[in-house]
Amino acid sequence: MCGIIGYIGSQDAYPILIQGLRRLEYRGYDSAGVALARQDGSLAVYKARGKVDNLETVASARDTSGNAGIAHTRWATHGEPNDTNAHPHTSQSGRIAIVHNGTIENYAVLREALAQHGFTFKSETDTEVLAQLIEYVQNENHCDLVEAVREALLQVEGAYAIVVTEQGRPDRLIAARKSSPLVIGVGDDETFLASDATPIVGFTDQVVYLKDNELAIIERGKPLQIKSLDTDEPSDIDIQPLKMSVAQLEKGGYDAFMLKEIFEQPSTLLDCLRGRITDDCSRVVLSGVVENAERFLQAHRIVIVACGTSWHAALIGKRVIQELCKIPVEVEYASEFRYGNPMIGKNDIVIAISQSGETADTLAAIQLAREKGAWVYGICNVVGASIPRNTDSGTYIHVGPEIGVASTKAFTGQVTVLTLLALCAGQIRGTVSREKVREVAQALMKMPETIKEVLKLDGPIRQLSRMFTYAHNFLYLGRGYNYPTALEGALKLKEISYIHAEGYPAAEMKHGPIALIDREMPTVIIAPNDSLYDKIVSNVEQVKSRGGSVIAIVNPGNDKMERLADCCLEVPEVPECLTPIVSSIPLQLLAYYIAVNKGKDVDRPRNLAKSVTVE
Ligand code: GLU
Repeated sequence: MCGIIGYIGSQDAYPILIQGLRRLEYRGYDSAGVALARQDGSLAVYKARGKVDNLETVASARDTSGNAGIAHTRWATHGEPNDTNAHPHTSQSGRIAIVHNGTIENYAVLREALAQHGFTFKSETDTEVLAQLIEYVQNENHCDLVEAVREALLQVEGAYAIVVTEQGRPDRLIAARKSSPLVIGVGDDETFLASDATPIVGFTDQVVYLKDNELAIIERGKPLQIKSLDTDEPSDIDIQPLKMSVAQLEKGGYDAFMLKEIFEQPSTLLDCLRGRITDDCSRVVLSGVVENAERFLQAHRIVIVACGTSWHAALIGKRVIQELCKIPVEVEYASEFRYGNPMIGKNDIVIAISQSGETADTLAAIQLAREKGAWVYGICNVVGASIPRNTDSGTYIHVGPEIGVASTKAFTGQVTVLTLLALCAGQIRGTVSREKVREVAQALMKMPETIKEVLKLDGPIRQLSRMFTYAHNFLYLGRGYNYPTALEGALKLKEISYIHAEGYPAAEMKHGPIALIDREMPTVIIAPNDSLYDKIVSNVEQVKSRGGSVIAIVNPGNDKMERLADCCLEVPEVPECLTPIVSSIPLQLLAYYIAVNKGKDVDRPRNLAKSVTVE
């Protein structure tokens, strides 16, 4: 959460910073701000509540010159979203400006102590405390700003990625990170700093991922310097190639990133599968599993930790791993796992799933699992993120940048990778038959075409959505593999349309939620031709006999449901473990069109942001 960017070079910094903020806006849009360090030594700070457009309105009437600067788009954790709480925050004298992603947990104690030294505060944020602390340390120690930043950060508890600039030093930016991401883009005579690589794309394809507890000094005309926050010793600089294109970061003619990402799923799934299934579909080769075959042979248990949509993918992963690998699997919310005294041992495998690879709770769960001796496998999308750097092995889902706040293509990518993992580990363990591997692998290879078929439902779903735009509540029901699909469908609707929706295992409905059903409450049923089809038909009968309207996701030749449901959306039949992939796509479209009908900003839903880097 929160997007930060910095630039130093020979170009005008302002347009680069604004474009960068637009690319990072999916990380937060409570407020935006910029600080420009000018050659004449002045520091100009402009900020505005709300989206980057508002900042542009404020700043375009002012002087936006300068070849160095820092900028921020905020997802508030401390203090309401307003102009004053917007970043950059300045120190008491106005000499130092800072942008920050994360939370300073001991900010109240520090603020109190600084107040006793005469510091006064304009905002309610934890970030301003850090700006003031840096100035206090510098005043006390009469040291250079680099040393003051380092000393101040040693007093801070919590998570941060920061970039700092100061009056009179337009030739230097200072950055540091702990538990929040920061990428450095190394160009020709110019350097970029950003929360993720998206603002850097198009400027340079050389990046350095700053590691935890590292401090970077970016000085015009000098080589990049990185050192350890703790020891002050220089660190190795590992420049890596950035493989992302500008086209991937644009809407490509779609009205919203979310819609683009829904429609990209045939190609993203192809990328996700590439090189992982043999041509004859007889074997699945996931290198992270094959290279660690012994781990999977000896595993007593797998625990999957994740949050939000990734947690729903994890629930599907549990079923497919248990079915194909015969290993008991537990699924935990990362935020609960980390505080739940988990019983983890050295024969346990912990799988951590996060689209961004930066989810704070998931990272903390990984750390705890490793401390307890578990071997940890990461599944994430963003190359170079913290999860792949803090796990023993893992797999990228390779679905390209996901910018829509409501996750779509990452979900289907995660389910695909979990299925590949189950097939690959099942082969190693001898728990899955050749026929089964071939059946599922062939269906996976056909999945891009299958999804193209599903996407033909776009028109019918758009029409259908109009009937339900003004519903206040929705129930989503599924069984087996599609209970998590129901949870995911309900989450999509909640996130972007703000309609209350509940996902439930269909048979559990009679233990409570059935009391809610009336003419006003639509029910979405996921009912493919699987082993539980007849059971779910009975559940639909129960809804219909209470006057509820039913939208059913079905496979062709579905007479019983055709007779019962108000509307059937037909998706192609696939092996049971893959039904969540095809069934979730109509639910993504339904949520999208209902939100659009309601006039909501689908890509920037209220109160939400992508890449949840705070607890
Ligand atoms: N804690 C800072 C604030 O509330 C930054 C929040 C974040 O990174 O999400 O302004």
